[in-house]
Amino acid sequence: MDGYTDNDISHVVEADKAHVWHHLVQHKPFETGEPRIIVEGKGMRVWDQNGREFIDAVSGAVWTVNVGYGRESIADAVREQLVKMNYFAGAAGTIPGAVFAEKLIEKMPGMSRVYYCNSGSEANEKAFKMVRQIAHKRYGGKKTKILYRDRDYHGGTIGTMSAGGQDERVMQYGPLAPDFVRVPHCMEYRAQWDASGAEYGRKAADAIEEVILAEGPETVGALCLEPITAGGGVITPPPGYWERVQEICRKYDILLHIDEVVCGMGRTGKWFGYQHYGIEPDFVTLAKGVASGYAAIACCVTTEKVFELFKSDPGDPLDHFRDISTFGGCTAGPAAALENMRIIEDEGLVENAAKMGERLMANLEALEEKHEVIGDVRGLGLFQGLELVKDRATKEPVAESDIAAVVAGCAERGVIIGASNRSVPGLNNVLCFSPALIATEADIDAITDAVDGALGAVFG
Ligand code: PMP
Repeated sequence: MDGYTDNDISHVVEADKAHVWHHLVQHKPFETGEPRIIVEGKGMRVWDQNGREFIDAVSGAVWTVNVGYGRESIADAVREQLVKMNYFAGAAGTIPGAVFAEKLIEKMPGMSRVYYCNSGSEANEKAFKMVRQIAHKRYGGKKTKILYRDRDYHGGTIGTMSAGGQDERVMQYGPLAPDFVRVPHCMEYRAQWDASGAEYGRKAADAIEEVILAEGPETVGALCLEPITAGGGVITPPPGYWERVQEICRKYDILLHIDEVVCGMGRTGKWFGYQHYGIEPDFVTLAKGVASGYAAIACCVTTEKVFELFKSDPGDPLDHFRDISTFGGCTAGPAAALENMRIIEDEGLVENAAKMGERLMANLEALEEKHEVIGDVRGLGLFQGLELVKDRATKEPVAESDIAAVVAGCAERGVIIGASNRSVPGLNNVLCFSPALIATEADIDAITDAVDGALGAVFG
């Protein structure tokens, strides 16, 4: 590579500053400071351009690297596959594509078909498109509406932003697509109904039914929800919520689409988040942990019942799912995913996520006892959040600058943590933790020790 050697990292920093448009962050600060460049990773740890070591408590910042960094066996599997057969459009099959689909479906009783693509947004778009086509094929063009929930996130495309429950991430990108309708969130900590526990869960689900009735059930095709809301503030559903949601979908013939882009692949201590709640979805979308970021791969998984609706008559060339994702035919994705899945199974990482999740929760609850600023601790498995408030009674969120200071304070202590999207005042003020599923007790303790120190430094 021109102008680059391992010893010339300052050139890399300059090239980055001059030409890379980073995701999510503002660039003004780079005029005086440097962007963080991650140069190496191993296990739970990464190193930046200055040789500083961090424990990554958020798996690549956005809950992705489930099996940890530096997995040579995944690199080997991808290399072997690429030199044999790197790509062929998805109208044909490939060996790793077929084998991974079979293995994935073994983990998802009730599901049947895997549609390959490249990102979480894209997988969700595929499901939306299928829902729309079903509306046209089966319901005379009715049932095109897709319900989504306040605070849930499904991606950055115009379609998925139309199903975006975090206003701050969509408000500057309209006009959005029609026939996406919002339902209320289910967060008991910031309750919208005077109830608690299972009663709260039922009320939050009943609120979805009210929206369906107001819209007209004959116009609603699908309901798309995260099993546990991720970037919107790590929102775990109250008991009874999901049972009632499922019941409502069945009652009104509404397809249930579960967005497992974050929760999937062991993150919550089961293979998939929805499996905690006895849900039988019609669509499950997956991305991040499918290959832990070793290759770009996403899946829109459906039941055979959904697939059957598209099994079309060869006499009518228009009658099938008229869609392609060019890079859905890359074999690097399923080759990496297969080895990723083998690692998760052989190393017992789903079980480890459940076990280490209990320790993480216990440590965070101990911090809650100690730091008045912690209003709520939420999550499941290695997917947890701390909501910070100025006052436990009023639940007024802490200032955004304080959240940033805690995140920076953790980095100073050698731990990278995350924070939910928080630019709407009063909404998101949650620190996020999603370490790799290989985390040990010592890793978990090091993470929460850093949080303890940073909270003490910022809030006293
Ligand atoms: N769904 C959820 C729940 C997500 O958290 C994300 C990404 N943060 C997406 C979908 C979109 O995935 P991608 O960025 O791969 O398009």
